[in-house]
Amino acid sequence: MDRTKHQLVAEIEELRAEVSSLKAALRDAESESNQRNCGVSPPEEALRESEARFRSLCESSPIGIFYTDLMGRCLYTNARWQELAGLTLTESLEDGWSRAIHPDDRAAVFAKWNRCVREGRDFEKKFRFLKPQGEVCWVHARATAICNDRGEVIGYVGTDEDISAAKLAESVRKQVTVDLKQLNQDLERRVQERTAELLQVNADLQRQVSREKLLGILTQKIRQSLDLNEILATAVNEVRQILQADRVLIFQLASEGTGVVVQEAVLPEYPITTEMRFPDESFSEACYKYYCQGQPRIVLDVAADEWAYCLVEFMQSVSVKSKIVAPIVRHRKNDSPFVWGLLIVHACADYRQWQSTEAELLQQIANQMAIALQQAQLHHELQIEQKALRQSEALFRSLSDSAPVGIFRNDPQGQCIYTNPRCRQITGATVEEMLGDGWQQFIYPEDLEKILPQRSVDITEKQGRSIELRHIHKDGSIRLCQVNAAPILSTAHELLGFVGTVEDITKRRVVEQMKNEFIAIVSHELRTPLASIRGSLGLLASNVLSNDPETAKHMLDIAALETERLVRLVTDILDLERLESNRGVLEKQWCNAATLMQQAVEILHPLATEDGVTLECVPLPVQIWVAPDRLIQTLVNLLSNAIKFSSVEGKVMLTAQRQSNCILFQVQDQGRGIPPDKLDLVFGRFQQIDSSDSRDKGGTGLGLAICRNIVQQHGGQIWVESILNQGSTFCFTIPMPLELD
Ligand code: ADP
Repeated sequence: MDRTKHQLVAEIEELRAEVSSLKAALRDAESESNQRNCGVSPPEEALRESEARFRSLCESSPIGIFYTDLMGRCLYTNARWQELAGLTLTESLEDGWSRAIHPDDRAAVFAKWNRCVREGRDFEKKFRFLKPQGEVCWVHARATAICNDRGEVIGYVGTDEDISAAKLAESVRKQVTVDLKQLNQDLERRVQERTAELLQVNADLQRQVSREKLLGILTQKIRQSLDLNEILATAVNEVRQILQADRVLIFQLASEGTGVVVQEAVLPEYPITTEMRFPDESFSEACYKYYCQGQPRIVLDVAADEWAYCLVEFMQSVSVKSKIVAPIVRHRKNDSPFVWGLLIVHACADYRQWQSTEAELLQQIANQMAIALQQAQLHHELQIEQKALRQSEALFRSLSDSAPVGIFRNDPQGQCIYTNPRCRQITGATVEEMLGDGWQQFIYPEDLEKILPQRSVDITEKQGRSIELRHIHKDGSIRLCQVNAAPILSTAHELLGFVGTVEDITKRRVVEQMKNEFIAIVSHELRTPLASIRGSLGLLASNVLSNDPETAKHMLDIAALETERLVRLVTDILDLERLESNRGVLEKQWCNAATLMQQAVEILHPLATEDGVTLECVPLPVQIWVAPDRLIQTLVNLLSNAIKFSSVEGKVMLTAQRQSNCILFQVQDQGRGIPPDKLDLVFGRFQQIDSSDSRDKGGTGLGLAICRNIVQQHGGQIWVESILNQGSTFCFTIPMPLELD
């Protein structure tokens, strides 16, 4: 386009130069003619040549050339002009040329042309020719007035330059400019629209980000606690602040279709709904089903809430105008959902146009609450379980710790993994010493050999067993133990290990042995008088002595005497047994020692008198903490022995002395005495120095054993000092309580 324009401009410049040279030639011709008129006339031939030269110049000119008279009527047009206007020479002459002008430009061209002609000025105008074929051609017309010698305008010569290309270029440029402008505007508009869109998206994103941030903070706050009430309280307070609501509450559903407000955050100017119970069946089934899907509801006007007509009055009473409800949906163990409650936001001041984004946010919070509640419930259940477990563990631990038998636990390979305190007490070992294979070192080697090979048999058979095992205490003593072990099996009958008890039966075994011996002795002691009684009565029954009444009476006396002895024996046995088994717990009280001594002496006075023995007493008036009957029993026993084993005219003396921390009682006789090797034995059961003592002295051999038991139960000691044939002194002590010192 630019190139074409440049070419055209160059061509026009060329034409202008040509026109200028033509004008110059014309002026030259005129001056020549003038000179000729002044006397020098050019030859005719030369004129014709000149005219022919100019005509050919005009005809071959690349721009249109026209010539008019003074009135503007066309006198001449060259070939180029005719081409531009689409007219022939004839058609262009006179006013014909005006027909070629585009109807839209005619008025303006005529007006200017007529004005120029009228005023004798040069003409210059750009306008269009409309060729008969419809083709339009833009021209730049210029006309210059031609004057005669007197300077009067005699006509006009002009040119029409084809500027279609330039015009086209210009219109194209204009169009392009318009298009560009339009394009620019479109672009501007689109940029603005896009910017607005982006701003909107950005604002949405910002809102979403801030919502998610809020949700995150709230979730964290809600989940920070495992306490149900704290979770609910945090939720209502935070939601009320986030949504700038007048009231936020949590309505917990009850099974019968009603519910209660369990938590609330409300502005001070509105009524409190906490603890308010809603009418029964305030929930329709359709409503419940909807909420069960975890979907929120926006109610712009609570008075028109189709699902809560029965709540309209209530809503008015608590000033609610519009609300959002988000269900808190939880799941049962079988995964079926249920509506635990509702998170409800109230607008009280005005009808609020809740946004769907607000409802979504509320639902997300409600979902987080459901998770937090689930966790809180699990935590609560776990705590209860843990508490029960701890209690159970403490119970079993205390049982195990205080069990009077040893308890152990072994793994399937026989490695010890637990022992209770009693188990360790039996061996004197520490926990660590008993663990693993450690327990084996406390089993008597011979006994260990017996059980080790069988262990695998036990494991395969999965049976329990009971065995007596000797244990070696760390102090070196041997403890005989009854060990019972039972397998622990899983539900699939796999062996998980062994649990066992260890009972120290050493003492029991000794006692059993003693009892057996005692029974043997008792039966022997009882048999002796029984045999006498049976013998005497047998004789009487056989009537052999029917004629011998004296012997018969003697037999009866023997039977009676032996019966009395038998009664004494049985009484003493029972008394001793009662004392040893601690069944007859001594009932102690403060007593005056002197009184007790005198009472004992009084009891035995008749016997002493009968045996011709002098009985003396030096009472000690001191308060002692004793069982009075038992102390008198002891004194009587010792005094009666002393009398029994004294010779006639012997003297028996009862004294008491106050010692540093006890009272020492002494019964002294001048009788036969006791051999040194028997001094300890006499305190044993059925121990008598002489086998005739029981028969002759009527003793049972249990008296001193009973005395020893009574003294020991008072915390004292008993012993005898004796010189054969000179006498014995039986001594015992009764401790003095500290406060008496
Ligand atoms: P018993 O009923 O036979 O007296 P005890 O246990 O009281 O039973 O006495 C045991 C035995 O100790 C007596 O049988 C007797 O042999 C001997 N003994 C007890 N007291 C005296 C004493 N004062 N002098 C000598 N021997 C005694």
